Amino acid sequence: MKLHFDDLIIGAGSAGCVLARRLSEDGSRRVGLVEAGHWPGDPDIADPLKWPALQNRPYDWAYRTVPQPFTANRIHGWSRGCIVGGSSCLHAMAHVRGHPTDFDAWREAGGESWSYEALLPAFRRSESFSAFTHSWHGADGPLPVHLPDEEVSPVVRAYIAAGQALGAPALPDHNSGDLAGTTPNSLTIRNGRRVSLADAYLTPDILDRENLTIVTGCETERLVIEGGRVTAVLAVLDGETAHIEANRIILSAGAIGSPLLLMRSGIGPQEALKRAGIACRIESSEVGENLQDHLLGLGNVYRARQPVPVSQLQHSESLMYLNSDDFGRADGSPDIVLACVVAPSIADGLQAPPFGSAFTILFGVTHPRSRGRLVPTGPGRNDPIIIDPRYLEHEYDRATFRKAFRAARAVGHHPALDAWRAEEVQPGSAVQSERDIDDFIARVASTHHHPCGTCRMGSDGASVVDPDLRVRGLDNAYVVDASIIPRIPSGPINAAVVAIAEHWSASLR
Ligand SMILES: Cc1cc2nc3c(=O)[nH]c(=O)nc-3n(C[C@H](O)[C@H](O)[C@H](O)COP(=O)(O)OP(=O)(O)OC[C@H]3O[C@@H](n4cnc5c(N)ncnc54)[C@H](O)[C@@H]3O)c2cc1C
Repeated sequence: MKLHFDDLIIGAGSAGCVLARRLSEDGSRRVGLVEAGHWPGDPDIADPLKWPALQNRPYDWAYRTVPQPFTANRIHGWSRGCIVGGSSCLHAMAHVRGHPTDFDAWREAGGESWSYEALLPAFRRSESFSAFTHSWHGADGPLPVHLPDEEVSPVVRAYIAAGQALGAPALPDHNSGDLAGTTPNSLTIRNGRRVSLADAYLTPDILDRENLTIVTGCETERLVIEGGRVTAVLAVLDGETAHIEANRIILSAGAIGSPLLLMRSGIGPQEALKRAGIACRIESSEVGENLQDHLLGLGNVYRARQPVPVSQLQHSESLMYLNSDDFGRADGSPDIVLACVVAPSIADGLQAPPFGSAFTILFGVTHPRSRGRLVPTGPGRNDPIIIDPRYLEHEYDRATFRKAFRAARAVGHHPALDAWRAEEVQPGSAVQSERDIDDFIARVASTHHHPCGTCRMGSDGASVVDPDLRVRGLDNAYVVDASIIPRIPSGPINAAVVAIAEHWSASLR
């Protein structure tokens, strides 16, 4: 099979869906969107309460890390959507742009066009807030952002009251500038149903566009490179090799898929490619490097004094961003985060009380300093990948995680939660010493599902893509997804990924 497009987008995830809509607005360009997975068919995807159960289903790539020495040698499961909508079909729906100062590192990496101010129109263009409470909010973008009100659990209200009593300011929401403080989560939910990026951006009127072709069940194996250009893409479709040509190739295969595609095509660190039996065509030492992720401790669990009502949202209703040195007002970007889950939430292997009889406070670090990497073991799409996030390798991460745990406990034991808390059951009152806390953290730190940074954007020659997101060494290939993030923002990253895609497509106009 042979296809030809002006623009070929690889991967119909969060970024790919945005790009398909925006690039096909120019009716003179033929746009192709190829996705390894298929259109969603599982009704559970739309149910916000079912999100934890979606992991490991057939539309999950279900990656696994190598054992992590600083998390008790555990192997961590990494869910990634293999479906139209990508990981936005599996995610927990929290919409957090990040603290404006998070983007200072992006500006340092790529110049003024990557500052928060420069990205603000892209955030706003993507969003449609249920209540327009701040001039920074988007009002008529494709992605609905719900600001919950009466539905917020009474347990979460008590947790928010505890945070405020300890000094954390009350915020109107997570996307009005300041991020340090308490507020229920803003959620990409409409009428009680998840809105994936496919739901938001690939609406029926877009699917009717004659210049847009979406090919599902089509896994790209590698790029064909001739004379500094990608001349074609080789993919597998219905068991056959598909040969897809395009003038411009955009990799939106995500923080794992995009660097893998580059490396399988011979673009990457020479030594790693050699070990995988791949001929190096363009040496690019940082492909697959700079891997960053947030961890959350699952969790500081409390047996409840009264039945805990089932969440009317998506279980984890309120992220609380804090400055660990001063529980209250953070100047600039916060360094720790808590989250209140209206259920027991505990890492594998630990005991938790039954559903309905407990609540949990999760805890984590907003700007981890550990940096990991991923490499393929061979040139084929079925060759295993080595994913090594090097969780908690950096002493700063371990020390800050301890502070986050102590902050979780301070909130959990606060009198504002007296009506709900019977007793702490994880880790339990015996765990007090630094050593015991570190052991607990090592056993419960789990991915918050935000891998990014593996095709770092920057003005420096070592970066994988330049500030226009063009792959260094190639004239017509770009990466537009979570992998270009130079430094992870404070919060969940989906809003930032959407903004990256909006921002880049606007720069072409
Ligand atoms: C369980 C979970 C919970 C999360 N919770 C939140 C949250 O509450 N809030 C938040 O902001 N973020 C959350 N995230 C993270 C967020 O969903 C992702 O960061 C974001 O979706 C990444 O977007 P992307 O476009 O970079 O990649 P993806 O959305 O992963 O898209 C990549 C796409 O490329 C396709 N692909 C990959 N390789 C190939 C190939 N070779 N050929 C063809 N297609 C390919 C994939 O199948 C996929 O569809 C969560 C993620 C998960 C998994």
